[in-house]
Amino acid sequence: LLQLFIPLNFLGMVYRQIKYSLADMDLIFKLMEEQPEVQDRPNAPALVLKAGEVQFSHVGFSYVPERQILRDVNFTIRPGQKLAVVGHSGAGKSTLSRLLFRFYDVTSGAVLVDGQDVQAVTQESLRQVIGVVPQDTVLFNNTIYYNLAYGRPEASQEEIEAAAGMAHIRQFIESLPQGYQTLVGERGLKLSGGEKQRIAIARAILKRPRILVFDEATSSLDTQTEQAILETMQEVAENHTTLVIAHRLSTVVDADQILVMDEGRIIEQGTHRQLLTQGGVYRDMWLLQQEERQMQLEQAE
Ligand code: ATP
Repeated sequence: LLQLFIPLNFLGMVYRQIKYSLADMDLIFKLMEEQPEVQDRPNAPALVLKAGEVQFSHVGFSYVPERQILRDVNFTIRPGQKLAVVGHSGAGKSTLSRLLFRFYDVTSGAVLVDGQDVQAVTQESLRQVIGVVPQDTVLFNNTIYYNLAYGRPEASQEEIEAAAGMAHIRQFIESLPQGYQTLVGERGLKLSGGEKQRIAIARAILKRPRILVFDEATSSLDTQTEQAILETMQEVAENHTTLVIAHRLSTVVDADQILVMDEGRIIEQGTHRQLLTQGGVYRDMWLLQQEERQMQLEQAE
């Protein structure tokens, strides 16, 4: 019986995750491998979306009991504001976005959206209000149209074109002989890293979420593409509550608030200017990055 139960349970989970239109297939696969299912409470109400405030209150978290990943994390992103998180690899930055989306439940404290604990509302209603642009976008082996509309299958052609326009990928798509019907993915047209990210941005726009999460790609795009993607993200983030998991400091300069994380704790918090003046870890990171840029420029000459 157990043997029968496990695959059924597993399939049910896959189905539900697809139904909820998670940000991306790679996330679905990660979930399938790694995550015990997070359950809705019996009779959980839907989230009542107001202005779109996000709050982490004394959040502690561990994936496995032996290893604490987040420790007493506190911050609020006011409606329409942008919060950027920086820190070394493994500091726990992406974990914050996973907890906001409720891929996992916090071990202590709470994550709140408009004052409502994400554990108390249905996952479906929570995920509807959050658009995610993931680190690495995996495309379906299907048309560009399908890949865009995945965020909101009932979207009209006009809405899809408008979203592609906002993500600065419309011209490119329309220049292809088969336009939106072009097949992409493993068996179709191979898109560059930057183009894939634009598709992910357009998907997120189509969902019309109040809250946006950008998990910046760690893989390096060329500087020009990176800059262009950055500008697109800034345009899209306008008027949305935005959480940016940043891997490059150039992304965070204009943020309303920057968190510097280290080993699961917030060690510094403030605006770019405040943190530079404070003269701590952020300032060191900034100076180091400036030096690296300078060296790159000199090498290029
Ligand atoms: P990066 O900048 O490299 O993306 P990050 O700061 O976003 O890193 P997280 O992805 O939040 O880091 O991971 C924080 C820690 O949690 C890491 O040490 C990682 O190994 C661990 N971790 C991440 N996912 C899991 C998981 N599913 N199970 C167990 N440990 C995990």
